[in-house]
Amino acid sequence: MATIGDSMPGAPASEAPKYLWMDGELVPWGQATIHASRLGWSTMGAVFEGIKAYWSEAEGELYGWQFAEHYRRFADSMRLQRMRPAFTPEQLVAASADLLRANDCREDTYVRPLAWHADATWFGHLEDSRTGIVITTAPFTSVLGSGKVVRACVSSWTRVGDNQLSPRIKCISNYQNSRMALLEATLDGYDQPILLNSAGRVTEGPASCLFIVRDGVAITPSLTSGVLESITRTAVLRFCHDELGVPTQEREVDRTELYIADEIFFCGTGAEITPVAAVDHYRVGTGGVGPLTGRIERLFHDVVRGRHAGYAFWRRPIYTTARARAAL
Ligand code: PMP
Repeated sequence: MATIGDSMPGAPASEAPKYLWMDGELVPWGQATIHASRLGWSTMGAVFEGIKAYWSEAEGELYGWQFAEHYRRFADSMRLQRMRPAFTPEQLVAASADLLRANDCREDTYVRPLAWHADATWFGHLEDSRTGIVITTAPFTSVLGSGKVVRACVSSWTRVGDNQLSPRIKCISNYQNSRMALLEATLDGYDQPILLNSAGRVTEGPASCLFIVRDGVAITPSLTSGVLESITRTAVLRFCHDELGVPTQEREVDRTELYIADEIFFCGTGAEITPVAAVDHYRVGTGGVGPLTGRIERLFHDVVRGRHAGYAFWRRPIYTTARARAAL
C-alpha cells in the first residue's frame, strides 16, 4: 500500500495536520492510504476546490470564508464530470468545519477538497465509478496588505474553451493549460501569465481571475470569456457595488486594454488581491499598488478577518459555532 501524504507538500512530516477527512470520516493523516494500482485514470477527471479560513487574533476565532459558495461550485464540477457524490454541499461544509476543529487550526488555513472517480481503471468510466472525496488542511501565509506586486505577461498559450476542457469545471486536467502558461512565464522572467481565449480576448491568470481599472471603472472578463466562475470575483464585484461606489463592467476585454489600464489586479482564493505592476513590460499606473486596488484589498482583508461586520453570511465562525452548539 502506498501512503498518501506522509508529508504535507511544503512542510516536514512533523508539521502535517493530525487528520484529514476521507469519505465521511476523520482519518489520521498517516493512515489515509490508497492502493498504488488506483493511480492514473482515476484522477484524470478529479475536481477540487481551494478554500480559505482566516484567523482573527483579536477574536480568537477562525473564519471559514465563503464555504457554501465553494462547495456549491464543487458540486457543479462533480456534476459536470458525471460523478455521484454521497455527500451534499452542506455536509461537506460541516465536514470541513469539523476537520478544522479536529486539527485545532488557529492560523490562516487552506481547506482543500478533492473528488475523484475512485474505482476507475480507464478513461471511459461513468456514474458507476465510486466518487471518493478527501479534504485536507494546510497553513498558508496571506499576501493581503504585504504590498507585493507581480509582473505579468500575455501567454503564448491559449486558454482552454468551454467546448474543449471547460474552464467552468475546476478539474485537475484543466491545470495542465495553466501549468504550461505558468512555466513559460516564469522561465521568461515574469511572475504570472495572463491567458487569452481563442478569439484573442483576455480571460484570466493560471489560478486567478483578473480585473482592470480604466477611468474609475472596474472591468473583468465576462463569465463566458473562458474563466472559472470565481467566487472572489463575485465578492469584488459586490464590494465595488455595495461599499465602494465603483462602477463595474463584465465584458470582453482586449489584450491592448491591459497595456493602457490604470490598474490591474488578480483575484482568487490563492491570489487574494494581487496587484499587477506591469504587463509585457508596459508599466501599470505607477508600478505599485493602485488606489482602487488598495481600497479593495483593505476591504477584502477586513471582511475576511471579521474586522468589518458586514458580509457575515460569507464568514463561518469555526469555533464559536461549535461552542454555541456544545452549550445547547
Ligand atoms: N481561475 C482559476 C483558473 C483558478 O484556479 C482560480 C482559483 N480557484 C480562480 C480563477 C479564482 O477563483 P476563486 O476566486 O473562486 O478562488
